[in-house]
Amino acid sequence: MEPDVRSFLYELEDKNLVKHVSREFSPRYEIAAILKHYDLEFTVIFEKISNFNGKIVGNLCNTREKLSIALNASKSRLHEHLLYALKNPRKPTMKDDAAFLDFSSPPNLSQIPILTYYEKDAGPYITSGVVISRDPDLGFQNMSIHRLLVVDKDTLAIRVVPRHLHHFIKKAEKRNQPLPVCIAIGLHPAILLAAASSPPLGVDELHIANTLLKDKLSVFKCEGTGLIVPANAEYLLEGFLYPTCKVDEGPFVDATGTYDAVRKQPIIKLTGIFHRERPIYQALLPGGSEHRLLMGFHREAAIKEAVSRVVPEVKSVRLTFGGCGWLHAVISIRKVSDGDGKNAILAAFAAHPSLKHVVVVDEDVNVDDLNEVEWALATRFQAEEDLIVIRNARGSSIDPSADQEALITSKMGLDATRPLNKPTQHFMKGKIPISDKVKKFLLGE
Ligand code: MN
Repeated sequence: MEPDVRSFLYELEDKNLVKHVSREFSPRYEIAAILKHYDLEFTVIFEKISNFNGKIVGNLCNTREKLSIALNASKSRLHEHLLYALKNPRKPTMKDDAAFLDFSSPPNLSQIPILTYYEKDAGPYITSGVVISRDPDLGFQNMSIHRLLVVDKDTLAIRVVPRHLHHFIKKAEKRNQPLPVCIAIGLHPAILLAAASSPPLGVDELHIANTLLKDKLSVFKCEGTGLIVPANAEYLLEGFLYPTCKVDEGPFVDATGTYDAVRKQPIIKLTGIFHRERPIYQALLPGGSEHRLLMGFHREAAIKEAVSRVVPEVKSVRLTFGGCGWLHAVISIRKVSDGDGKNAILAAFAAHPSLKHVVVVDEDVNVDDLNEVEWALATRFQAEEDLIVIRNARGSSIDPSADQEALITSKMGLDATRPLNKPTQHFMKGKIPISDKVKKFLLGE
């Protein structure tokens, strides 16, 4: 079976990680509210949507457990898995058929149950749309995730930040031409993870997805645009981006869970919509755990790699949920000399320019348990010695407390590793011996 949303859902069903909703709920707020309720646990399938002959899935890959199922790798090796794929992109297999060719129609976005998520959002937004584009001069492709506001039945507004797609748009603008784009919706999480990563310009994220999927990804060349896209997408939208034709985009809740500002952004005019039989429309809750996990994961991997170069051993790196999966890191290291904690802080800031606060802990502290991280701060940290504050650094555009125009922020690193010049026993957690009898009792035997 080829990896796609359907094969991934079978795997999740097997492990009882899916909740089915058979009652009808509205794509306007109601489905978002249910996704939010199950944010940190269930994948949810909505079976019944009015005037729609398909299903909606949300929270598809909202936990690390699901990410490890998606990548078929153990939880502790997930970062290494992505780092390997980033260094070894491999071309997917070209097919002359695609699953989304089941049905095609002139563009009418009102036939897709696109969700409106938050109260003050500008309208319905496609949030799991993977945008595939091509360098107008050099011909290589790029794949990236963008939020897309429904403007009209065949028009979307696209939010573009100055990265690779933006670079292509500038080139198209110079030529006074629209930029051909495809938008794939309903994809295996490995493809979303690859699209969210940021390899150097010229590396096609589809090739990274193929490596992540152990060469099982197949692709198809679209007729209208000549773009190469995942053959098993649930939906494929084809069209052209007009660089100078701009409309108001926003407000919209982003990864921080706060409303992003209204800006003038370019539009995409669709020329065709293709979909599979009984399509599964993928919703992705903005500011939810899936959003934060997919967005931040490649940065965690980058931090792990960078810190590994300056300290002997990095155990784990987490961009925490409360830190929006983007602004806060917790790093556990095996410290061998005083100063390792500080060097880890410096390396982390260098690896992830948007990082704002970082806490470094020893390897006996569980980075997934923020109570333990706080305990390390309470028992191993002295502000005078262990706090680094950096003023007027370049920061993230999504932090409302920063100077969002100039992108200037303050950063803070906290070294909560135990000092090596004091006796170890003062810092170790007390242990209670557990007899076999107690063990059996606790296991309910
Ligand atoms: Mn790219």
